Amino acid sequence: MTPPRAKAFWSDRFLDYDFGPFHPFSERSRGMAVNLLKRTAAEAEPGALEWSEAIEPAERSILESFHRADYLDFVQQASGLSREVLLDAGDTPSFPGCYEAAARLVRGAVEALDYTLAHRRPAYHPGGGLHHAHADRASGFCIFNDVAIAVGRAVGAGLRVAYLDIDAHHGDGVMYGFFDSGRVLDIDFHQDGRTLFPGTGFPHEVGRGDGAGLKANLPLPPGAGDEALLPLFRRVVPALLRRYRPEVIVLQHGVDGHWGDELAQLQYSPAAYAEVDRTVLALAQELTGGRLLVTGGGGYRAESVSRVLARTGLILSGLSEPDPGESLPGEWRETFTATFGTGAPATWTDPPRLEATPWSDAEERRLVAQLESRLGDRFPAP
Ligand SMILES: [Zn+2]
Repeated sequence: MTPPRAKAFWSDRFLDYDFGPFHPFSERSRGMAVNLLKRTAAEAEPGALEWSEAIEPAERSILESFHRADYLDFVQQASGLSREVLLDAGDTPSFPGCYEAAARLVRGAVEALDYTLAHRRPAYHPGGGLHHAHADRASGFCIFNDVAIAVGRAVGAGLRVAYLDIDAHHGDGVMYGFFDSGRVLDIDFHQDGRTLFPGTGFPHEVGRGDGAGLKANLPLPPGAGDEALLPLFRRVVPALLRRYRPEVIVLQHGVDGHWGDELAQLQYSPAAYAEVDRTVLALAQELTGGRLLVTGGGGYRAESVSRVLARTGLILSGLSEPDPGESLPGEWRETFTATFGTGAPATWTDPPRLEATPWSDAEERRLVAQLESRLGDRFPAP
């Protein structure tokens, strides 16, 4: 039996976070990632990945570390109703038990953070990453901001945090939540806010007060893919992290930037996610003594979300990655079909179906120059 190299946090009760069959967000695709990760990790090397599965809802004092008391009262009241009310301006309805369901995802993030701080091994919370919720309101399918609460908990422990966000949508709840904080370096790659919810995350938004110069926003145009993400990631992320010297890294690993996503128009491939994962893991080993929390996030195409998040868990556990053409387990495919009522993917990676990219070297130079002038940082030449 191998000693554990990482720990994943997943309760089947995360599936209670459910806005109903016609809503795009579903923890079921994260559940299918967990199903695949459990099988493949155990087969590759039993014990390399530990699991925590008994996760209770976070208590109110933890929620209050980020959210306002009147907002928590409002959600608690809505949670007790049999009918649905809107928790934000339109995308995030209540459902019976929504308070407990959202609080359970928060507990997953808190336990994962505590684990990585104590053990200096990667902690993985694929059900979390609800980065849009603000202190006083729900937003974008996010009722409580589990990942902001984890960031705040690390800050409360006196640590410098690097928060990275590769979700297709800007992580506004986290960025504005720590906009003034000198203890949170925030680097966010996302589809340009002029073309996608929530409409924020521009290079001129660099933080305020103690946080000035510590928020880096990298908006990409619709249609941009690996050719945009990876060169920027390689230039900007290691340089900023090595200068900032974080004591823990938190990565919000939304998968809605994957090509073919239902809600966003970026075109990342599984190979790009894998490179990001390996790079961030290496940076955690170099800079934070191994303290790394990775959460899930958005992702509205179950075929992509389940396979990409499963692969991330393998990488965090130091296990070898499946070959792109490697077949997926038959039982997993049957469960996938039974869960979604659609055919399951046969292999780990599909041949990509990409549109022409709007990205070019000139676009990269323009964005890097904007960041350099706003942040006062020089990034290495490619
Ligand atoms: Zn998203």
